[in-house]
Amino acid sequence: ILEGKVALVTGSTSGIGLAIARSLAAKGAKVMLNGFGDPAEIEKLKSELGALHDGADMSDPAQIEAMVRHCSDELGAPDIVVNNAGIQHVSPVEEFPVEKWNAILAINLSAVFHTTRLTIASMKAKGWGRIINTASAHSLIASPNKSAYVAAKHGVAGFTKTVALEAAKDGVTVNCISPGYVWTPLVENQIPDTMKARNLTREQVVNDVLLAAQPTKRFVTPEEIGALALFLCREEARSITGANLSVDGGWTAA
Ligand code: NAD
Repeated sequence: ILEGKVALVTGSTSGIGLAIARSLAAKGAKVMLNGFGDPAEIEKLKSELGALHDGADMSDPAQIEAMVRHCSDELGAPDIVVNNAGIQHVSPVEEFPVEKWNAILAINLSAVFHTTRLTIASMKAKGWGRIINTASAHSLIASPNKSAYVAAKHGVAGFTKTVALEAAKDGVTVNCISPGYVWTPLVENQIPDTMKARNLTREQVVNDVLLAAQPTKRFVTPEEIGALALFLCREEARSITGANLSVDGGWTAA
């Protein structure tokens, strides 16, 4: 169903982005991967998905611009953009490192603006496009010690709604997917800092902090997010725009 479509998926060498790239490639999209990682692993992913890769650092607007050009030159202008690259840092606001704040705002929020501003005109011109932003349950609610992340993700939700309105008549939908806790390296890596910040054991962080928020008491899987992203690319989803779709095991219902 995505034959002939070009999909640019940021932060797709791991976790949720990789699962989204797999689900779009499986339905025929030509995929441009992005993200960091071991070069041999990235080569393996490229051949598995028949994809290309651009290692642009999403905190750098010039590299983002070069990546969009690379995609357009090699595969064609993106019909589907998945803004997924993201990082986390856990710390009380009074100790929050300024460079971490700046990096989180740049990668988790400003990069979404840059890829969008650089790709939406050609989508509008074709009368078809999909912009899918990986937001978070933290685009709707907050948790302590995540000031930069929560601010950035609330920003993504607002940006998504705004661009959805601007593109509504042009066949371009703009949505965000807001996962709860998904078991990926991003979540695994914040366990030690949360242990320190809240003086808890590893088991207490998993059960009493992470899964405590999720009524289903299980982690969301990356494949579940990939399946929803694919649905948003289907014709049946053309009226879904400006939405913030929660996939959080009931977290934000509570
Ligand atoms: P992950 O750490 O497994 O993957 C992050 C990806 O982003 C990797 O491919 C990494 O190389 C890439 N990346 C990081 N910094 C980058 C940069 N400067 N430039 C380019 N690429 C960069 O994390 P994940 O859990 O799959 O997270 C993906 C997205 O999902 C993020 O936006 C995250 O905020 C969001 N999210 C995750 C969860 C969760 O529980 N895991 C929940 C809600 C939202």
